[in-house]
Amino acid sequence: MIKTVSPKTEPVVAVDIGGTKIMTALFKADGKMLAKDVRPTLVSEGVDAVIERLCAAINEILADNKMSLSQIGAIGIACAGGIDTGKGIVVTPSPHLPGWADLPLAEIVKKKTGVLAYLVNDASAAALGEQRYGAGRGVKNLILFTLGTGIGGGIIIDGKLYLGARGGAGEFGHMTVEADGLQCDCGNIGCLEKYASGTAVARDAIERISRGAKSSLIDMAGGKIDEITAEMVGKAAQSGDNLAREAIARTAYYLGIGMVNIVNIFNPEMVVIGGGMSALGEMIIAPGRKMVAERPYSINAQSVRVVTGRLGNEAGVYGAAAFAFDMRRTR
Ligand SMILES: [Zn+2]
Repeated sequence: MIKTVSPKTEPVVAVDIGGTKIMTALFKADGKMLAKDVRPTLVSEGVDAVIERLCAAINEILADNKMSLSQIGAIGIACAGGIDTGKGIVVTPSPHLPGWADLPLAEIVKKKTGVLAYLVNDASAAALGEQRYGAGRGVKNLILFTLGTGIGGGIIIDGKLYLGARGGAGEFGHMTVEADGLQCDCGNIGCLEKYASGTAVARDAIERISRGAKSSLIDMAGGKIDEITAEMVGKAAQSGDNLAREAIARTAYYLGIGMVNIVNIFNPEMVVIGGGMSALGEMIIAPGRKMVAERPYSINAQSVRVVTGRLGNEAGVYGAAAFAFDMRRTR
């Protein structure tokens, strides 16, 4: 049975489900994180096992904090993939959560916990998290790019998360940046994600080395150049490796093109770069910041700041919490 929630002071539990880990956190109504739990997703064990693990994490984090499900106002869930936010369904699976299609995740979690659950795309959640609790506090119009294995995005307009007709807005990774470019897994060609994601950086470095270029990456990968990762390229670039720096610069250039397009469409006050690759800091964002200052229509170029996120890999749970608070208040 679903309990009736009246006060607006109850804590929420937020969950961020990714391909490798599930992060669960308990939040007070003022947005303060009280506790956090991280455990592996183990997606190969199947959807049911992952949902069991997720519910176990929720129960344990509450027990550890001497609370019960009846004291929780809502559960906010951020999940990779194409999410129908209104219905709480994972419609199309993320490549990192294969098989998660047409999955009524919010309803399942609600049935298992007795608490209302709300589902939102993980990158949209990260945008909301940064705007509410991170780099974009007080910013009304904010765009977030998440740079990881792929590229995601989130849109805040007038202080509110913009989700589009069904929850699919903000797929910045799949905007065309090369009209006759590389084939993307999404079916489109020349997508930003093919040129500026972690996967793209690693591929670019591998291609340069295959053509005979020298790099410390060859030793770093123990001679197995096919095993070079974006993380290795980042490390090599930070220690001055020229080839790695060129690969990062190419990514930063394409990210800049993506940002210019988005800045012209949305006229945001702030563009936040989050996700794992944002740890490279200025190396990854400075070229784009320069392009955003020079290329867009001038009114748009003058209004925008480009920054890295402040919440790191917790942006998703912060955003899922904010989403749960908002949904609870508008019920
Ligand atoms: Zn694509």
